[in-house]
Amino acid sequence: MSMAADPVLILGSGLAGWAVARELRKLDPAASLMMITGDSGDFYAKPSLSNAFAQGRLPAQLVGTPAAEMTRSLGVALLSRTTVESIDRSAKAVVTGSGRLHYSRLVLATGARPVRLPLAGDGAAAVRSVNSLEDFSAFHAQLRPGSHVAIMGAGLIGCEFANDLASAGFGVSVIDPSSRPLAALLPQAAGEALRQALHALGAKWHLGTAVQAVHRDGDRLQLDLANGERVTADAVLSAVGLRADIALAQAAGLACDRGIVVDATLATSDPDIFALGDCAQYASGLWAQGPVSGGRTLPFVLPIMSAAKVLAARLAGQPGTLRFPLMPVAVKTPALPLVVASPPHGSPGQWHGREEGLWHFMDDGGLARGFVLAGKQTSRRAELARRFAI
Ligand SMILES: Cc1cc2nc3c(=O)[nH]c(=O)nc-3n(C[C@H](O)[C@H](O)[C@H](O)COP(=O)(O)OP(=O)(O)OC[C@H]3O[C@@H](n4cnc5c(N)ncnc54)[C@H](O)[C@@H]3O)c2cc1C
Repeated sequence: MSMAADPVLILGSGLAGWAVARELRKLDPAASLMMITGDSGDFYAKPSLSNAFAQGRLPAQLVGTPAAEMTRSLGVALLSRTTVESIDRSAKAVVTGSGRLHYSRLVLATGARPVRLPLAGDGAAAVRSVNSLEDFSAFHAQLRPGSHVAIMGAGLIGCEFANDLASAGFGVSVIDPSSRPLAALLPQAAGEALRQALHALGAKWHLGTAVQAVHRDGDRLQLDLANGERVTADAVLSAVGLRADIALAQAAGLACDRGIVVDATLATSDPDIFALGDCAQYASGLWAQGPVSGGRTLPFVLPIMSAAKVLAARLAGQPGTLRFPLMPVAVKTPALPLVVASPPHGSPGQWHGREEGLWHFMDDGGLARGFVLAGKQTSRRAELARRFAI
């Protein structure tokens, strides 16, 4: 039976789960906190996964704070290596393989899952994605000095890995159906500049085409591309996108769309269940730089930090509503450093080059709604962010 003293139960030990624990502990030293996670519970900064090779950092060195230290300093009871199979909302309990655990409030911080493209060939199962420290450890173990890595996807994660691996001396081929890298985020000239910078580092581009099949070729893998080209590699990394992990929430009958739908206090359609991080879809109207049509997932660190503070206040019984500041994303491609402040999703308008390495996104009403900085201009990030924060 559920008791009044049941804990606030946080599901997931990624940046979102730990950020809520940390913020709530600041506001309420006495709160009973429990965390359940499918992984070890060690705290690590996920962004470091895509710039570790060039720095020569081993997977174990990426653990910022071991789970035992996190739980001790934050006073959290941790159940690691435990998968929650379902949520029983009427009993206010989660169900794991080893029993049921009751909550007073439940925080879903279950992250996102890498999109897997259907590929033909007997090597398709060898294609990897990196969305956790454990994924990264397995990928790291697969590579030998001079290995060649084929990267599917020229988005943020694909480009960052291309830069990191090429800088560390690995061979890199990047395959993407778009005509340039980061096509969804950058103006054409900035995308072209990034393509050239990574090419100069040794990355080979296969743009305007897609991987159709992956075959085993002895110890190596052979990729058949739609344009008839073939790429031979020692490892294949898929970086074609993430999808919010909504499985548990959906099965429990919570409102879900592209993510678990939350309001400005991070509440789901059940007032005792909250969500944040890569699994959440934030309501429209939460953006400082103007209205956003429909809700939006925001799989980045800064939104997690804003959301965790507001959620902690709500859990501690204090007022607070979420309003996202302008959140520029630094793209970790040292070959051409970039800072991107995207316009609200679906904004009609166009990019305009202002000066070398600086673009503004102007909407149809003539308002500047986003910016991109490249190269030396990235040092102006704070200035531009201030100027654009209407
Ligand atoms: C390679 C890479 C580089 C990135 N670089 C940047 C960057 O430079 N800047 C930036 O802003 N963002 C970056 N991001 C995005 C950012 O890291 C993520 O938005 C953030 O880490 C997501 O945190 P999360 O806690 O929401 O999810 P996750 O870290 O995915 O955590 C999810 C947690 O939920 C647990 N879980 C899920 N389901 C269950 C279940 N049923 N039972 C038990 N436990 C469960 C998992 O075990 C895990 O602990 C990067 C992402 C990647 C992959």
